[in-house]
Amino acid sequence: MKTRLVFLGPPGAGKGTYASRVSIKLGITHISAGQLLRNAVKHGTALGLKAKAYMDEGELVPNEIVVSLMKERLAQPDAAKGFILDGFPRTLGQAEALGGIVGIELVINFTAPEDIIVKRLGTRETCRKCGWIYNTITLKPKVPGVCDKCGGELYQREDEKPEVVRERFRVYNEKSKPLIDYYRDKGLLIELASEKGDEPPEAMVEKVLQALKA
Ligand code: AMP
Repeated sequence: MKTRLVFLGPPGAGKGTYASRVSIKLGITHISAGQLLRNAVKHGTALGLKAKAYMDEGELVPNEIVVSLMKERLAQPDAAKGFILDGFPRTLGQAEALGGIVGIELVINFTAPEDIIVKRLGTRETCRKCGWIYNTITLKPKVPGVCDKCGGELYQREDEKPEVVRERFRVYNEKSKPLIDYYRDKGLLIELASEKGDEPPEAMVEKVLQALKA
């Protein structure tokens, strides 16, 4: 079974939702670059203060900041049993830096129809405490506004306003899309498409587990 994984895809494709579930099933570590950055912002670290301005605008945080954060995270003992990188790398520079830190076994590119993605982002809620992702239409929490997993408060991210979402897509197309060819050329890429978008995440999680066994 492959356990050193990267999940790629545009904002709202489901990377985080699938990564959280697949990592539990496999007993490996889910590392979300966005969540690491949001935690740094929440704790008011020097790095978090620098990152916040970029995140609020939907821009990418500079490579050096993200790479050093990820390098530190990947060096922690829980990453040794395997990991899913969600939202990293997002630029070719980051992909090259990652190659120098650890060997990746498989990269999965998730896609979903654009109208579904936009709807998902507009209705997404995230737990302030543990980062678990909900959706007020298809992935509702049991109690509105409260995380099923940890009881934390759910909130709508600042960068989910329509104008910031548009910028995140523009940045994705310009900076992150080239990673698809980069990893395809290395023979590491598979693509998984969510056709309808309203199916439960478990169906896609199953497809991922099958792909990892292959
Ligand atoms: P996400 O939670 O993956 O949607 O990321 C939220 C925001 O964090 C992005 O819009 C970027 O501002 C920042 N971010 C997350 N991952 C990266 C990365 N690998 N490189 C640069 N910025 C990132």
